[in-house]
Amino acid sequence: MTSILDMTKKELAEEVQPSFRANQIYQWIYQKYLFSFDEMLNLPKYFRDELSKKYYIMPLRLLKTEESSDGSKKYLFMLRDNFTIETVLLPMKAEGFDKKSGKIRSAKYTICISSQVGCKIGCAFCLTGKNGFVRNLSAGEITAQVLFVKKINSIDASRRVNIVYMGMGEPLDNLQNVVKAVGIFADIDGLSISPRRQTISTSGLSSQIEKLGSLDTGALLAISLHAVDDETRQKLMPINKAYNIKSIIEAVKKFPIDMRKRVLFEYLMIKGINDSMDSAKKLVKLLNGIKAKVNLIYFNPHAGSEFQRPNEKDVMAFAEFLNSHGLLCTIRQSKGLDISAACGQLKQRLEYELA
Ligand code: SF4
Repeated sequence: MTSILDMTKKELAEEVQPSFRANQIYQWIYQKYLFSFDEMLNLPKYFRDELSKKYYIMPLRLLKTEESSDGSKKYLFMLRDNFTIETVLLPMKAEGFDKKSGKIRSAKYTICISSQVGCKIGCAFCLTGKNGFVRNLSAGEITAQVLFVKKINSIDASRRVNIVYMGMGEPLDNLQNVVKAVGIFADIDGLSISPRRQTISTSGLSSQIEKLGSLDTGALLAISLHAVDDETRQKLMPINKAYNIKSIIEAVKKFPIDMRKRVLFEYLMIKGINDSMDSAKKLVKLLNGIKAKVNLIYFNPHAGSEFQRPNEKDVMAFAEFLNSHGLLCTIRQSKGLDISAACGQLKQRLEYELA
């Protein structure tokens, strides 16, 4: 049996007759959050029975929820083959009164999703990488995370959320399924989440960045840079041997960027490793000519970690240098810091609100 979530609406319409049934099924699942064919009452009984014999809907089972004092929630899901993944819901803005418009402003959310079970990349600062790679997630297992989280938090289907592919795994190492998920998320009968609200974060697989660019999905790009010279980056991210900084910058320069958007560069600040003024100067030079935004992230040591958290004054000085040299830079307050995370840096990597 396969999950119906693995299918685009077009694929589903080729499977079911008459094809408008595909729209109805999509609406029940993605807009009414129904995970059982039996409850889809505008479908004839015989048809619902047929669907149940061939497909299942939800490939995830919720194992555990942890809630941080700032309202972030981390979910541990079990897949049908008993492997586990995590997904994080980040409330970016609470519901409130907007003085400017004189209207009630609705809450804003970002959902951080996983794309693989484990990861091949093996970054030195990350717990997920240390545990090795198991398998890619299917497109349905990727989309199911958002669907499930929206449902259990009663986030209305019409409420847009931002998606960041920043949980477990390297999304561009699972390019085909991630690109398919971007399209399924965007379907107007589905969750209707525009690609411009979806950010794919990569450790810098240059050739895959080029492939993603050529597919022109409209999704935004975030690069985990973390260092400005190959020697330092190689220590933090062994993948840099195969894809060095120069190749990443060249791939980013070719990437189609929405006029109103920027490429995000994530920079994990680690004491004594990459937090010097010299690094700040090199970063400005490196990103010259790119519509970039840098997100500085405090490294938060986990048990057994060889790295240390940077001093606040060094991070502030770094950010000030970037901003004063025309490189847009933010330092995000960490969200969900009191949630234990399976991906070592997951909780720190989620700080930014999408531009
Ligand atoms: S930081 Fe991301 S790319 Fe690096 S090992 Fe962890 S999950 Fe993989």
